[in-house]
Amino acid sequence: MTSVMTTYGRIEIAFERGEGSWLYSTDGRRFLDFATGIAVNSLGHGHPALVAALKDQAERLWHVSNLYNIPEQQQLADKLVEHSFADTCFFCNSGAEAMEGALKVARKYQFVSGAPEREEVVCASGAFHGRTLATLSAGDSEKYREGFGPRPDGFHHVPFGNLNELRAALSDRTAAILVEPIQGEGGINPADGAYLEGLRAAADEFDALLVFDEVQCGMGRTGHLFAYQMYGVKPDIMGLAKGLGGGFPVGAVLATEKAATGMVPGTHGSTFGGNPLAMAAANAVLDELLKPGFLDAVAQKGVRLRAGLDDMAARRPDAVEEVRGVGLMIGIKCVGNNLEVMTALRDAGLLTVVAGDNVVRLLPPLTASDGEIDECLGILDTVFARSKAD
Ligand SMILES: *Cc1c(COP(=O)(O)O)cnc(C)c1O
Repeated sequence: MTSVMTTYGRIEIAFERGEGSWLYSTDGRRFLDFATGIAVNSLGHGHPALVAALKDQAERLWHVSNLYNIPEQQQLADKLVEHSFADTCFFCNSGAEAMEGALKVARKYQFVSGAPEREEVVCASGAFHGRTLATLSAGDSEKYREGFGPRPDGFHHVPFGNLNELRAALSDRTAAILVEPIQGEGGINPADGAYLEGLRAAADEFDALLVFDEVQCGMGRTGHLFAYQMYGVKPDIMGLAKGLGGGFPVGAVLATEKAATGMVPGTHGSTFGGNPLAMAAANAVLDELLKPGFLDAVAQKGVRLRAGLDDMAARRPDAVEEVRGVGLMIGIKCVGNNLEVMTALRDAGLLTVVAGDNVVRLLPPLTASDGEIDECLGILDTVFARSKAD
């Protein structure tokens, strides 16, 4: 058996270097990276500000325990609070941990508010929230849960986008409603604005908390710092990770003061969460995203990519069934098999990621140039033209 556990079906490429939107493989090839480690390398590879911040921090201090004050954490939390709905942040190391934390905050809120029976979480079909036992329960994939024994219970699933079914699932035992404003793994499915507004109203009406999973769609990907800002619907709790550290593993749970009332000292923790190295990376990423014009530029690039893809979909209905998504979080629902399309794109020098519903995902660096977006469109067009001929 291989020394690395075989939990992944791996593609036979290894990369040795990255530069901006490009990855260089050990066998001497160059790839346009519109996969970005699944929406992680938000500033591309080797961004000077990120490299400088990490180098500087690495020379001073890597890690200290959360038993002490960590000023870099304070800085990041202050900025996240200033630029979001939240009043307070908890730092962890991954998306699954952020969502576990979010669920714990929600249930604890109900517990300390005198409603300990409110333990249930209503989740959506097509949802993905991570691979820990609780986040697998919150996610919609039975395949991912199979064989892993007893599941944390109290999770119900209703069809994503259906407000009536969601409302019907709420009761005096509901702790929270949990959705991704734009589903990622499920196939790049943006929620409808009216649906999210309905969730907000339903949560308020039923004394439940509204939890958004912005692990994939947050941190600038939509051309807004957070996807919920585009919809104008605020959650009570939100999980972040993927793009937050630009490639450094870091996650966060953001919450309002009300939602976080139960999180007193001793209620939650993480040895590595929010250590100075991770905070240096996340602070550098956030500072770049908040620079004047950065997010507007992301939105403009999203428009450029989308215009090219819509045109392609119109010209090649035999290859492209639908294009959906927001900003630089785009899904192409393929006519042919999405895995085969992804492989053909890779052979042509473009890295993408597959998602549910036969979708190929484009998750470019937020720093991708117009020229790189055009190059991506060119490769897609060539590959889709060929798939027609086959
Ligand atoms: C990737 C992802 C997660 C899990 O993140 P990990 O860092 O892999 O644990 C959770 N929610 C969403 C929406 C994701 O896309």
